[in-house]
Amino acid sequence: MRPAIFFDRDNTLTIDKGYCHKIEDFAWMPEVEAALRLCHQAAIPIFIVTNQGGIARQIFSYDDMTAFHHHLCDKAAAAGSHITDIAYCPHHPKASDPAARLCDCRKPAPTMLHQLATKWDISLAQSVMIGDRPSDILAGQYAGCHSYLYEPHSPMMRFLAPILAAHFGVTPS
Ligand SMILES: [Zn+2]
Repeated sequence: MRPAIFFDRDNTLTIDKGYCHKIEDFAWMPEVEAALRLCHQAAIPIFIVTNQGGIARQIFSYDDMTAFHHHLCDKAAAAGSHITDIAYCPHHPKASDPAARLCDCRKPAPTMLHQLATKWDISLAQSVMIGDRPSDILAGQYAGCHSYLYEPHSPMMRFLAPILAAHFGVTPS
């Protein structure tokens, strides 16, 4: 089993303009490309765990989200990194369709982390979860990960460097 790093998407890796789903709105937070490159160079699997309740609220479609994720992965690859996998929760407690309301995957539930850990043989106790919301931190803690709250728009590399040093023995060259 390997350790990994789990990131929230909106307002952590990417700038969130509210139910972000259009490729033309895609933008990284500061220093994210360098941070993702460092993780990849250190052979740390990179996962994204994201609540995408805009699908349940019919603000955007599954296909919109998938196209956005393909674009994000392409941009990460262009930056010399690699997103190993993305897990998303398409549900929302305020969805008009009752079937889209209740679920066991929306953060702060740790379900998405558990699913990725099983699929990719990841040791959650050795892994790190990073996000900008208390629900991200709770999901990480429920999963047994080291969890860190990111302040949106702060430089990701500066934020991540001591975390990578502490948990992965990685230092920027
Ligand atoms: Zn869900």
